[in-house]
Amino acid sequence: MEAMNCPRCGKVFVRINAPICEPCVKEEEVIFDKVRDYIKEHGDKSVKEVADACDVTVKRIMTYIRDGRIDASGGMRDEVSCSKCGKPIRSGRMCEKCVLETNFQIGDMKNAADIRNKGRVFTMGKK
Ligand SMILES: [Zn+2]
Ligand SMILES: [Zn+2]
Repeated sequence: MEAMNCPRCGKVFVRINAPICEPCVKEEEVIFDKVRDYIKEHGDKSVKEVADACDVTVKRIMTYIRDGRIDASGGMRDEVSCSKCGKPIRSGRMCEKCVLETNFQIGDMKNAADIRNKGRVFTMGKK
């Protein structure tokens, strides 16, 4: 067991599961419930409208969507896009196609490394 400062409120707490202290976890849950309930009732609102109505930041709503905790449906549909190809998605970070492609690339990179090890030319996209 390790005591640390809660990154949210700064109080010292013993980290068990969540990266923030228990009162903060509860507060976060209340906020999340509020956002989720609001979206349930007002499915046609944009991210900005939901953020304003629930008194939270747009960034926070985006985090919920990117974490897959809420679905960007209705009014939010076009506001979340795949971080790779830019296609609108409903939750998460990338569209299904890019998730698959990324998984493939991890495999490819391993293959490419094997090829390089055999003395062949190895090129990767410039960063
Ligand atoms: Zn805290
Ligand atoms: Zn994509």
